[in-house]
Amino acid sequence: MPRIAVIGGGVAGMEVAFRLSQLSFEVDIIEKSFILGGHVHKWQKLFPDFTPAHQIVDQLKNQLRDKVNILFGNEVIKAEQENTKHILYLSDGTTQVYDAIVITTGFKLFNANRKEEYGYSVYPNVITSSELEEYFQNDKPIITKENRIVERIAFIHCVGSRDEKVGNRHCSKVCCITAVKQAIEVAQRNPDAEIYLFYMDLRMFDRKFEDLYLQAQTEYGIKFVRGRLSEVSEKADSRLFLKLEDTLLGKPLRLTVDLVVLMVGMETAENSIQLANALGIPVGQDNFMLPVNCHSQKNITGNRGIFVAGCASGPKSIGETLADARSAALEVYSYLNCN
Ligand code: SF4
Repeated sequence: MPRIAVIGGGVAGMEVAFRLSQLSFEVDIIEKSFILGGHVHKWQKLFPDFTPAHQIVDQLKNQLRDKVNILFGNEVIKAEQENTKHILYLSDGTTQVYDAIVITTGFKLFNANRKEEYGYSVYPNVITSSELEEYFQNDKPIITKENRIVERIAFIHCVGSRDEKVGNRHCSKVCCITAVKQAIEVAQRNPDAEIYLFYMDLRMFDRKFEDLYLQAQTEYGIKFVRGRLSEVSEKADSRLFLKLEDTLLGKPLRLTVDLVVLMVGMETAENSIQLANALGIPVGQDNFMLPVNCHSQKNITGNRGIFVAGCASGPKSIGETLADARSAALEVYSYLNCN
């Protein structure tokens, strides 16, 4: 029976592994951590319908039970190819031979410390979108680090995305709709709070996203301002003073808030460039893995028998990631049946 390695145990990896096991292949997931689910594991509710994130992860985990081997705490150190066989040397000291490989290494979040002017790690009430999710573990009002109820909050879009200065020209695709979802969740907990979203452009690309954006304005009074943040400083009372530019009016803007949320973008995952080099896969200018063709061969890499799925080849929503994973499983099936 053909053996397949799926490198990465996030939602893409779990879905592609399950689909390949359904097709009667022997599948190993090689996961560097000791948990499955990747970033989704840390999320509370998902846009646009507020589905609890754990439902998706639990469902994917249940699908895998007794069908797929999971090699936790493991990474690919070196790779070789002999005819159609792929030999992977793993960090646990073992050597595994596979007939096909699917790369599902996902992404990492932009390190907000790289935008020094935003004061992340300096001012305690400047947090990332990922950290805000931790506040949503219960229905209590959102408070500052000094236990003050948040009365005014600013969400800053495109942090580490669409920003030549940090070397990221790409759009991370899902942070606009994530900001809308999170702003609504803040409004539900702090109904009297003033909530501002400062955006470059609003990318409401999928079904129901535009509805959520309208609901945020009409039902929750959330304010959307086309603007750029230039600097954050802290006042004596620990509130945050923002210097911005309203880019529609071309005028400077000043605002004092209790909490700033940085919508950090996606970057290619840790070690994925080394992995791409080891496997002979090209990466793009954005460092995400490049398929042969971005229309009709999105899961096929330039190296025979090696496939890519999910955010390893660029930012995607969860729905897109799962669809991409199923598509990759079919490509692997076609490849192994034509060999
Ligand atoms: S999705 Fe929105 S916030 Fe995210 S990078 Fe693209 S434009 Fe910026």
